[in-house]
Amino acid sequence: MIRNKAMKKIILIALLLGTIVNLIMAQHQHHEGCIHSKGYAAMDSEGKMIPYTFERKPVGDNDILIEILYCGVCHSDIHYVFNHWERSVYPCLPGHEIIGKVTQTGKNIDKFKVGDNVGVGCMVNACGECDMCKSGQEQFCQNGKTVYTYNSVDWEDNGKNTLGGYSNNIVVNKDFVVRIPEGAPLDKIAPILCAGITTYSPLKAAGVKKGDKVAIAGFGGLGHMALQYAVSFGAEVVIFDRTEEKRELAKQLGAVKYVNINNAEDIASIPNNYFDVILSTIGSHYDLSLYLNKLKMGGDLAIVGIPANWDAPTININSLPYNKRVWRSLIGGIRETQEVIDYSIEHNIYPMVKIIPVNQINEAFKNVIDGEVHFRYVMDMKTLE
Ligand code: NDP
Repeated sequence: MIRNKAMKKIILIALLLGTIVNLIMAQHQHHEGCIHSKGYAAMDSEGKMIPYTFERKPVGDNDILIEILYCGVCHSDIHYVFNHWERSVYPCLPGHEIIGKVTQTGKNIDKFKVGDNVGVGCMVNACGECDMCKSGQEQFCQNGKTVYTYNSVDWEDNGKNTLGGYSNNIVVNKDFVVRIPEGAPLDKIAPILCAGITTYSPLKAAGVKKGDKVAIAGFGGLGHMALQYAVSFGAEVVIFDRTEEKRELAKQLGAVKYVNINNAEDIASIPNNYFDVILSTIGSHYDLSLYLNKLKMGGDLAIVGIPANWDAPTININSLPYNKRVWRSLIGGIRETQEVIDYSIEHNIYPMVKIIPVNQINEAFKNVIDGEVHFRYVMDMKTLE
């Protein structure tokens, strides 16, 4: 009897130990086919970016594995890292202006082959079946299955949070990869994957054409791309920003005028009801009524800037002007992303970039926040140690 009890105890302890050992092993085991990856991520909303290693999901039949060569630094990355929109998941590893080379393809891939230059923007998957996906607006997937490149639930990876392009590689569904033609300047193409498409898309949607009067508010990464696209459509473009240093640069890139919003004479020099289209790329608090007043009746004020939740402009509805359209725009679909890449190359429209090593990312964030960079930082991902 006593012997039996002792045996039972020993068996129970052995089973318990076995389970513990298995659990520890499972934690340290690499899941089959997972991709070893490294990058820079923030662990909390203090926003300090530090080296981070992790595993990406295995390359599925419809996936492409990309070695990342360049990644642009978008102001949205900063909003996410510092939790400005109060929906950040940590570790937060941003980056959605990605250029790289295909290193592996899934079974169902015939459109891309190993060695191709490719780009990835703000999305890596969606349902592909709803009306929005079919019409090329995957960012508005009606089944709620849009998977953003980072800070998003990946329903094909057990609901894990996606990690972006501040890393050495990424696994992306084939339908969310765009082709970069041979010989294109890869470092300069990177920001077109977000700053380019986000401004090209609403300017096209607003029907900007030759002779239109267009204003671009905010002359940073997005704004300087918007200026070049609007000029290429034949519009007369006025830039609104807040520093004198940018006046000459705006002219160089084709603006007919630069309005420093801190200069009353500049503002008065533009009559009310003047612009056909205004595109706001401002990502912090600003006076919306200034732009509504300067817009023609029947004109469009398209907003792409997304301030922090606590810093967004508000407006009294009783002061809203009559017969002026105000709408927001969110990036652009994949078909249009390929279109803007091809359009930019054909029309020689590129961002002004400053290439930096990955370990300068904290300094780069600070400079963007302080308004000390013209116009886009792009990280050389080969410098990732
Ligand atoms: P940048 O910081 O590069 O550019 C913003 C520009 O706006 C800067 O030149 C800044 O000046 C200027 N600015 C700031 N406040 C004012 C003001 N009150 N009046 C006029 N100009 C002002 O940011 P990005 O271009 O990368 O991004 C802009 C915004 O767009 C961000 O909020 C970002 O999250 C959002 N975004 C939205 C997307 C969408 O799909 N809707 C996609 C991508 C980005 P200074 O240099 O002096 O600070």
